[in-house]
Amino acid sequence: MKIVVCIKQVPEGLDVKVDPETKRIVREGVKSIINPYDLYAIEEGIRLKERFGGQTWVISMGPPQAETAIREAISMGIDNGVLLSDKKFAGSDTLATSYTLSLGIKKIGDVDIIICGRETLDGSTGQVGPGIAVHLGIPYITYVSKIVDIKENKIETIRLMEDHYEVVKTNLPVLITVVKEINQPRIPSLKNMLRAKKIEIPIWNAEMLGGDQSLFGQEGSPTKVIDVWTQEIKKEGRKVEGEPQEMAEEILKELKKLGVL
Ligand SMILES: Cc1cc2nc3c(=O)[nH]c(=O)nc-3n(C[C@H](O)[C@H](O)[C@H](O)COP(=O)(O)OP(=O)(O)OC[C@H]3O[C@@H](n4cnc5c(N)ncnc54)[C@H](O)[C@@H]3O)c2cc1C
Repeated sequence: MKIVVCIKQVPEGLDVKVDPETKRIVREGVKSIINPYDLYAIEEGIRLKERFGGQTWVISMGPPQAETAIREAISMGIDNGVLLSDKKFAGSDTLATSYTLSLGIKKIGDVDIIICGRETLDGSTGQVGPGIAVHLGIPYITYVSKIVDIKENKIETIRLMEDHYEVVKTNLPVLITVVKEINQPRIPSLKNMLRAKKIEIPIWNAEMLGGDQSLFGQEGSPTKVIDVWTQEIKKEGRKVEGEPQEMAEEILKELKKLGVL
């Protein structure tokens, strides 16, 4: 079985800054990490290999420094990695991102399962996974919290919904997006850390991917960001004093006044 995990490097922390001119996320001078949800995708890829055998890959589209994220995934136990990087990919929206990744996955070849995180910390649209599946013409299952079994070219999963679970089965090849309930990501081992340090990470550019070159980057991105702003949150506090019963009544009165209750 060939498993490909999609990972994105994102700015660390929630303090995401947007360039007011270009409306793009400022990445310069900001420490980057693997998107936290993608750690669960990496772990599930490794566990699938341990359960069913095969080969694991990690793929990322991003600037040259995204190679660090690929090496981190390999240090957790992924076998191979590839970086899709080219100036032509700059300014990609989710459509162009998923198109580019789908070409990279096709180039890896004969893939049975593609695993993505449920969403990213910065863009957090959750559109890239399903987008890749649509470009590849394969089924997808989002919010997977458990892979029950894979046999006879079929996968059975449990999806985590807001107030219930769903059991979903489909044929391979498939793309799944995973939630954090699926597993506990492992800590890299020394052996894999040494391997990750030495391994050569191929970089595939637009020409190497082929496809329709007008669908990459800004040119292939129909989304136009008109404006971006940060919501100002005003914190107002009021201290309630007295006996517990009095304080509870006072709080209830206040909440009713605010329309919360
Ligand atoms: C007009 C426009 C211009 C933009 N320009 C830029 C830009 O120049 N540079 C830039 O970095 N962003 C840019 N963005 C943001 C970019 O579109 C998103 O970061 C990207 O498409 C991923 O979307 P998301 O973060 O919502 O991912 P989600 O859909 O929330 O991600 C879900 C999952 O998909 C996978 N995934 C997502 N992105 C990648 C990736 N790059 N590689 C591998 N796997 C991935 C991961 O498994 C992730 O957990 C731009 C957006 C718009 C609308």
